[in-house]
Amino acid sequence: MDIAMNRDIKSADIDPTYENIAATCPSCMQRNVYNRASDIGHFRAISNHRVVCLNNECGAPFDVVGDLINPGHEMLLLDSWSFFREKRYIQAVLSAATAYELFFAHFLRVELLFRPNQRDPDFFADEIRWLNDHAQLLVKRTQRHGFEDMRRLFLRVALDRHSLTSRAAAASYIAGLPKKPSAVKRGEIETLANLERRKLLLDVFGAEIAQLRNKVVHKDALRPSREKTEQAISNAYKTIFAIGAHFGIGDTDYHLNESREDAAP
Ligand SMILES: [Zn+2]
Repeated sequence: MDIAMNRDIKSADIDPTYENIAATCPSCMQRNVYNRASDIGHFRAISNHRVVCLNNECGAPFDVVGDLINPGHEMLLLDSWSFFREKRYIQAVLSAATAYELFFAHFLRVELLFRPNQRDPDFFADEIRWLNDHAQLLVKRTQRHGFEDMRRLFLRVALDRHSLTSRAAAASYIAGLPKKPSAVKRGEIETLANLERRKLLLDVFGAEIAQLRNKVVHKDALRPSREKTEQAISNAYKTIFAIGAHFGIGDTDYHLNESREDAAP
């Protein structure tokens, strides 16, 4: 439908989460939820999208506008606080732990693919093909990794990243990624001269959100207290945003988080 030809079509602001968007129908005022995978059909940020009201007695078409453009890990952190405010502490912990995992993957893509590619003297030669090939290789080397393996890789790459000055260096680094990453020693982080980086990496090193998540999802099905949840998710929030800013991989620099899932299945 051509939007310009339908002047009567109203629009509504999007209330976004990582998984869904919600909007109030401007005709009947029903609150509608649209799932990004099933109802919208893609995971990209929505600038303007025509939907139909889900109220059977209304069914009016309208345009939803104003999605968040944050990368996935930031959206999950925002979701986590929404769950917290609703006292859904289990969901808050799950979202914050998953945010960490997405953030680790995002960091690896930037530091092992995009930055070495930009630093390479042959920057323009076959850029897309090189990125695609090596992104696949990186996925292959990391797809079975859970939280702890991804944390180890994140810390390892955060310490080694200065050495990845070309595509060739990054390619051999990716090829050499161990199936079972070994633990980075605390002492290695403590020798960093950059005090801000040292503190941030130690925060990741000591983050306990994964242990809390495990207690929530395993057979004990722990219902965490308000205090425990608040502490865990505010640590995750502060640490992830601060590291994103420190390494310059926030959404304005690298909005690449959805690159592997650009279209819904
Ligand atoms: Zn309606």
